[in-house]
Amino acid sequence: MPDARASRVFPRHTKASVPVAVRGEGCFIVDSDGKKYLDASGGAAVSCLGHSDPEVTQAIKDQLDRIAFAHTGFFTSEPAEALADRLIDRAPGDLSRVYFVSGGSEAVEAALKLARQYFLEIGQPQRRHIVARWQSYHGNTLGALSAGGNRWRREPFEPLLVSMSHVDPCYAYRYREPGESEEAYGIRAADALEAELQRLGPETVAAFVAEPVVGATLGAVTPAPGYFRRIREICDRHGVLLILDEVMCGMGRTGSLFACEQEGIAPDIACIAKGLGAGYQPIGAMLASQRIYDAIAAGSGFFQHGHTYLGHPAACAAGVAVFDKISGPAMLARVREMGGKLDAALRDRFGQHPNVGDIRGRGLFLGLELVEDRETKAPFDPAHGLAARIKKAAMARGLMCYPMSGTLDGRRGDHVLLAPPFIIDDTHVELIVDRLADAIGLALDSLE
Ligand code: PLP
Repeated sequence: MPDARASRVFPRHTKASVPVAVRGEGCFIVDSDGKKYLDASGGAAVSCLGHSDPEVTQAIKDQLDRIAFAHTGFFTSEPAEALADRLIDRAPGDLSRVYFVSGGSEAVEAALKLARQYFLEIGQPQRRHIVARWQSYHGNTLGALSAGGNRWRREPFEPLLVSMSHVDPCYAYRYREPGESEEAYGIRAADALEAELQRLGPETVAAFVAEPVVGATLGAVTPAPGYFRRIREICDRHGVLLILDEVMCGMGRTGSLFACEQEGIAPDIACIAKGLGAGYQPIGAMLASQRIYDAIAAGSGFFQHGHTYLGHPAACAAGVAVFDKISGPAMLARVREMGGKLDAALRDRFGQHPNVGDIRGRGLFLGLELVEDRETKAPFDPAHGLAARIKKAAMARGLMCYPMSGTLDGRRGDHVLLAPPFIIDDTHVELIVDRLADAIGLALDSLE
């Protein structure tokens, strides 16, 4: 069994010694020294069923015994069709076709290309612009990175990125004016899209891309009430497709199967991943509306895209088993109930903390924003690397949390995202908050 060591697995941790994960036990990961880590972030909002679900692993084994792989250029498979049926049955609006890929970035890439191809098929080739939002993350492949608005991730690759335009996100903690109601702010934030469409010429825009609840850049930022209804209206008014990236916030994470259900809208294209395979297999999906499918069917008849592992049977078998566990009313109610308890415990512990500016989120998708000064909301100097220090201190205490640095007007801000498995209980909630309090305290002390 390998010990904690300098890893040779490219590209991570080439210098630092990292623990070697050897076993999963419910909400915990056990390393080669026998140390247990409570997974309070689901890795990165992935492991919604914890790390040792026997039914999911059995479903994968059963599928491997039947057939591991059949290329979609030749075949479909039973698990791919079964998972597609389940997703379409529950998907909002007229999302009625599913394209299975291997992760979130691939789902976003497929969505961007599908939007472009749709307009080519219906004779609107001038629609080539994509609008997205600053402080968002849509993946690391070049197209998805171009859509993402995290400056820190984008900057090293800037000359290579596809030209896309960005508007401010709906981020009440930072951008709501004093005295402005949440509803008024939601409308104002959405109207930034209208202004950007007018600037570009609305007839030249193919799609707007957004996460319903922002994950990997800002830590569980929920939209202001009415924001997405206004966004939907603006897209409809100008014939722009709405792509919702639910890679992180979808699949029950916020307490409804699709996060956008709670906004009362449906997209034209949705991207999901992470919780779809719950980490048992790499899988993502793009869901498209019947209107888009029909346009392609009536036109070229072929979506000009593809990867070798589309609709991988073992991955889809995992997806079916996961779906059957996370999608029922009891599990979704549990996410809301345990999310409420974790939220209350975080508010209890950190509500008055001088360096916790905001506690937010929905369901079991919660975030803390760290600030140097609660009054002015000034973030910490990025040179401190506070988020990384919190992660290190948390790991030492046997807690996995997902720290991140967002960009605020060019400066980094520090956030901690919590996205524990849906199977956590009250004891886990207590442990998460205790260990997180220790980790934040140690990280702050280390700045002095
Ligand atoms: N979209 C969102 C909202 C994400 O949070 C992520 C990953 O964190 C991605 C896309 C990319 O997914 P993947 O890392 O599976 O490629």
